[in-house]
Amino acid sequence: MVECPGIHTLAEMKDGFLARIRVPGGQLNTENLRHIAHVTKKYGNGIIDLTNRANFQIRHLKKQDQQNLISELLTYDLITKDPEHDRLRNIVIDPLSGLVNEVVDCRSLVGQLDQSLSLLPCKTQISPKFSIVLDGGGPSQISGIGHDLAFVAKKGSNPADPLFELLITGHKTLITVRASELVDTTMSWMNSLVDLSKPNALRMKNLIKSLGLKTILTHLMETEANREIEGSLRKNVVPLSGFCRQKDTEQVAINLTSPTGRLFDFKILGLAELAEHYSENDEIRLTSWQSVILPNISQDHICDVWEKSEALGFLTQEVEQNLQILSCAGSEGCIKGGFETKIKALEIREALADMAFPNLTTIHLSACEKGCARRAKSPYLVLQREQEQSMRLYVNAAPDTTERGKEIEQNRLISELKKLI
Ligand code: SF4
Repeated sequence: MVECPGIHTLAEMKDGFLARIRVPGGQLNTENLRHIAHVTKKYGNGIIDLTNRANFQIRHLKKQDQQNLISELLTYDLITKDPEHDRLRNIVIDPLSGLVNEVVDCRSLVGQLDQSLSLLPCKTQISPKFSIVLDGGGPSQISGIGHDLAFVAKKGSNPADPLFELLITGHKTLITVRASELVDTTMSWMNSLVDLSKPNALRMKNLIKSLGLKTILTHLMETEANREIEGSLRKNVVPLSGFCRQKDTEQVAINLTSPTGRLFDFKILGLAELAEHYSENDEIRLTSWQSVILPNISQDHICDVWEKSEALGFLTQEVEQNLQILSCAGSEGCIKGGFETKIKALEIREALADMAFPNLTTIHLSACEKGCARRAKSPYLVLQREQEQSMRLYVNAAPDTTERGKEIEQNRLISELKKLI
């Protein structure tokens, strides 16, 4: 399996080749959705998976179709021509940016960062997994997702040029940067950090492991970092369940969850129709919790949107969405996978359908310790390690846990989960 797929670099999976279409900031319009549905049907098997960095993955591709697929996506302006740039477009923001109360609406920074990444001299020296999160200080706490660099907005003395606090892989750094300088400073740091890393492989977690955070901060600030770093600042992302009222308007943003994070071309086309009909500006946002958000919906249309979304197979109600089941591709699609996560996720959802979930409850199914669907801890984790023959159940654990967990036979998993939840 190729380490980190994109569109110019496909990953060979069990069911054919897989391409990842990176969507900086997770923001799309209805035309984009229709083009995605079209290429998925034409070159793949109609399946589109949402990733935890708010990207799309399309499956079942043939290697010989890659150039045609690239040409079509370039025509639709959904990817970039430069492979070295395309693989670095891992920019994540809060999908509620601009809709809710926050310190900074980060949407305009996405385009600026993306443009600067395209011009970055050291592009080839950076790992395609390197990701940047811009957290405007909204309710989703989006800097809680795995990142290399995250910038969290905070109120400063100048409202016209707010401050962002730098986190490195969730670690507090005590470094702040002005919004007006964020993009240039980030590029200069990335250029400088590649000097410290192995060729083609800049990742902050590896750099911290080899040099320590203090050395890195000293390098970035060009002065001795003599203060004690206060440890990890990682928070959990707070996904939107149901809908939320938008600020300064009577409109709402509606969260639509697709069970197991899997969409199909017909669902995408249905979403495009819904957005065109009900969303004031034709907009759709991808979330890092494997759902989509339709913003700018009149309150009068909430029930219509729910009804039509349910007909497409989306979960719409808060009590349903509060049961969050995250799963990686599993053995169906990935050679490393120890069990069929997507099928198991659907079975679990069905078995727990009559339980009420007033609060967010996350079950993470990971078919190996890499944890593609989520790196952070989950209240319930079902993990089958690569070298192991059976799955294990954990409470409050991340896929890289060193604990042994409770060994579970597949046919006992649901009853064991029911006992715990
Ligand atoms: S977590 Fe799942 S998708 Fe990722 S490498 Fe492991 S088995 Fe494959």
